[in-house]
Amino acid sequence: MDPILQVQQVSFGYRKEQPLPVVEDVSFEVEEGEYLAVIGHNGSGKSTLAKLMNALVVPTSGTVLVGGMDTAKEDKVLQIRQMAGMVFQNPDNQLVAAVVEEDVAFGPENLGVEPGEIRRRVDEALTWVNMEDYAASAPHNLSGGQKQRIAIAGVIAMRPRILILDEPTAMLDPSGRQEVMDTVMRLNREEGITVILITHFMEEVARADRVLVMDQGRVKLTGTPREIFRHETELREMGLTLPAMTQVARGLAGRGMPLSPDIIDLEEMV
Ligand code: ADP
Repeated sequence: MDPILQVQQVSFGYRKEQPLPVVEDVSFEVEEGEYLAVIGHNGSGKSTLAKLMNALVVPTSGTVLVGGMDTAKEDKVLQIRQMAGMVFQNPDNQLVAAVVEEDVAFGPENLGVEPGEIRRRVDEALTWVNMEDYAASAPHNLSGGQKQRIAIAGVIAMRPRILILDEPTAMLDPSGRQEVMDTVMRLNREEGITVILITHFMEEVARADRVLVMDQGRVKLTGTPREIFRHETELREMGLTLPAMTQVARGLAGRGMPLSPDIIDLEEMV
């Protein structure tokens, strides 16, 4: 089976007069069901890469294929956006309705899904994010972590195969971060949804199947968390500081989070 996402020699600049492209000659593939973490310092092109994967912007050169569909083909854009759902940093900017269930229904309504099916999808999506008791609540009364889970439910209700999350936990407190990550991990591991997560938090990176490190618009490193964490000096030179590996491992274990099989024997590395 072809990879669900194929990024082939992609370059992109926001303006023609920009001396250097924001994303430069980037190539990678993501298999269906994978969890890919994307890290890199501010301005390294991570958000732009996310927008390229969702057809919000199209490559200046190269090709992005989502489920085999070229993001540069205008007639495929709606299908691509349905297949690759985006979740952003600030949940307040993503919630549009006055009531949670109406908010989650918004996406499928726009896709023209019939009302009975919308009802089923809203109930199912709220259950997946553990927010079924809040269907009739007002989003503005919810915590940051709950709001972000509603935003995820809104995307899930469109039945995407890929979930692209751009620093979804950056504005949350530690318990909100854990709620959101537990939800994302469950959707990935149990529902088989492919996850591409941009993050600064190394405990989120440690749970990924694979990591992509961006630097100045290019892919600097790629590998399993364990392989990436070995490059600590190189990462530090890029402005990325890693907590001690054992600290990450203990932090995850202490909160009852399963470790990625890749780092179960992490302690032996340090
Ligand atoms: P990151 O997500 O890693 O912080 P971004 O993709 O947001 O990086 O930004 C990469 C570069 O592109 C930065 O230099 C940023 O200033 C520039 N940039 C981002 N968005 C725009 C935009 N809409 N117009 C022009 N330049 C932009």
